[in-house]
Amino acid sequence: MADANRCERCRKKFRYPYLLRRHRSRKTPCAAAEASPETAELEELCHRAIYAQKEQIDDLVQLVKLLIAALEKKSGVIADFQSELGGDKVSPCF
Ligand SMILES: [Zn+2]
Repeated sequence: MADANRCERCRKKFRYPYLLRRHRSRKTPCAAAEASPETAELEELCHRAIYAQKEQIDDLVQLVKLLIAALEKKSGVIADFQSELGGDKVSPCF
């Protein structure tokens, strides 16, 4: 799983384990990930994708990719979610 060095509270991913350990032992604990407008929209799109007709899937995938690009600029948190969208099938939310 790609979640090896990911903080389970804020979902931030770290390149090295020691960075995650340092992050976890901060004096001020990280805040749990808040739902940004993009995240809420992404969830909505994923939900729609589950029930979408085959011909709607491509549009939804495009929208999801745009949202992911916007989110990556902000945080880089869900970079590996994008690779799951690479194929021609849509994976359900997270
Ligand atoms: Zn954290």
